[in-house]
Amino acid sequence: MSNLRELLTSTADRVADYRESLAERRVAPVADLERLRAELGGPLPAKGADAGTVLDELAVAVEPALMSSAGPRFFGFVVGGSLDAALGADVLTSGWDQMAFNGASSPAAALVEEIAGAWLKESLGLPADASFGIVTGTQAGSTVGLAAARHRVLERAGWDVERRGLHGAPRIRVIAGEERHATIDRSLRLLGIGADALESVPTGPNGAVDPDALAAAIEVGSGEPTIVIVQAGNVNTGAFDDLVAACEAAHRRGAWVHVDGAFGLWAAASPAFEHLVAGREAADSWVVDGHKWLNLPYDAGFVFCADPQAHAASMSHTAAAYLVGQGEGSIRAPSDFVPEASRRARGFVTWAALRELGGDGLAGLVERCCALARRFAERLEAIDGVTIANDVLLNQVLVGFGNDERTESVIERIQREGTCWMGGTTWHGRRLMRISVSNWTTTEADVDRSVEAIRRVLASGS
Ligand SMILES: *Cc1c(COP(=O)(O)O)cnc(C)c1O
Repeated sequence: MSNLRELLTSTADRVADYRESLAERRVAPVADLERLRAELGGPLPAKGADAGTVLDELAVAVEPALMSSAGPRFFGFVVGGSLDAALGADVLTSGWDQMAFNGASSPAAALVEEIAGAWLKESLGLPADASFGIVTGTQAGSTVGLAAARHRVLERAGWDVERRGLHGAPRIRVIAGEERHATIDRSLRLLGIGADALESVPTGPNGAVDPDALAAAIEVGSGEPTIVIVQAGNVNTGAFDDLVAACEAAHRRGAWVHVDGAFGLWAAASPAFEHLVAGREAADSWVVDGHKWLNLPYDAGFVFCADPQAHAASMSHTAAAYLVGQGEGSIRAPSDFVPEASRRARGFVTWAALRELGGDGLAGLVERCCALARRFAERLEAIDGVTIANDVLLNQVLVGFGNDERTESVIERIQREGTCWMGGTTWHGRRLMRISVSNWTTTEADVDRSVEAIRRVLASGS
């Protein structure tokens, strides 16, 4: 048996060493995956091992193969790192090992989640009486929001979907922008609504849905159950759909509005960017990630619903939806608002991150990342042969290097060079490099150093 205290202390040291190395580490690893497979794989050993030995084996083998996505010069996938308090709270959460099912399984986990939910609604400018659930991310959150939508629009058509399922149910129309995130389609498949139910509406020059086309698509309906999905933050450009227009058009026809705000909804936390999500409070469900701009560790996403009854009816652990959320004593039961029963106590990290930042810190984080994105755009645009393809209104920058083939090769060489990491995307028919500034540790110096690396890669030809 190893000594637990020593084990945890040396693990904490290991984590601290790793985090401290992030500022200077290569971003993409030069990983020998065959070696990793050989060291960790093979048949399960019959004999176990001492915990300290196990962690040594794991860390020594894995660390060289880690992507430095928690570091300041990782600009892929719209993800953040983790704030110090959130990382610490994540360690505590593992140590406490609570089952955040309801007030009986862990009163503290349930209560802290309740507080975190209230802080989130306040920060995002969502109705204080909206229900919420902490899920693994936006994929899961959209599945929850759309399940609540499915419940309500079918209930209005006289159909109890939780009891009867979708066999023989009235058909549901789903209207969404053609630049919706791929997770929307998967949620619809999971919910049995099916990807074919989707009616795609064209988007404008910066990737926001065309509000007139959206209104027209809603208007052609004749009162059938309808769900409208809009986006706060296009994953490529950062563009926002017009939430005021979408909610007005949808609600005139009794449709439900779901907002995919995976990263963009955080704009609401900044007085300088809040106008981008004006009108959000009128929607019916919203989803936003914690592991993106809030800089929580994976995995944390938040779903909110203006119709707590529909939310609980679609998700509740018990079929008796009218009891839902009451839990033990007066504590709300987290599991009534998510698809899981036993689950990690994600409220602790959420509370810790918001407490560390405070409202001003959260606004500052959003504003800093957006300013850094603009800095990227300005400096890259000044380089010969480099173009910025989007209107940089948030934290996303799309960069072209001439033709698709050259862009693809430049992205690959930038990743291999190792100073920074940006991914590729196809947007409006072009291959582009996508830069997303979402990490709380990124500085102007990191942007400048990354631009210099890109300049070097371009100068090195081919
Ligand atoms: C990242 C993202 C998602 C998916 O979020 P996950 O947390 O990976 O499930 C959905 N929509 C948008 C706009 C995103 O940026």
